[in-house]
Amino acid sequence: MTDCLFCKIRDGHIPSEKVYENDDVMAFRDVNPQAPTHVLIIPNKHIPTVNDLEDEDAEVLGKMILAAQDIAGYEGIAEEGYRLVLNCNAGAGQTVFHVHMHLLGGRAMTWPPG
Ligand code: 5GP
Ligand code: ZN
Repeated sequence: MTDCLFCKIRDGHIPSEKVYENDDVMAFRDVNPQAPTHVLIIPNKHIPTVNDLEDEDAEVLGKMILAAQDIAGYEGIAEEGYRLVLNCNAGAGQTVFHVHMHLLGGRAMTWPPG
């Protein structure tokens, strides 16, 4: 079995609060939320980091953003605003090496980020 945490969540081997799913992506709530809405959106395909993305992955990245748009809508944060974040590698704070997009909202966001 894979030792990737998010592959295990994708396959249901580790429980998660799933909020969205289609053939290419899934989304679930972050176990340690940093905002009232904190959802992680992943490609079903295991890709370790943004550095590993290839041309053929362009479509799934678009689908991740469209999933975020959908989720923001039903979380009721689309109009007030939300933030989408991809951390690449340890220096940017990446701790799980399966590409994921954070959807954060429900509170005011500051800029620059920490
Ligand atoms: P990163 O720091 O790699 O950008 O984000 C990884 C995120 O995964 C963190 O926000 C962390 O809270 C979340 N996370 C880590 N382990 C689990 C888990 O077992 N379940 C869920 N739902 N989220 C997790
Ligand atoms: Zn994985």
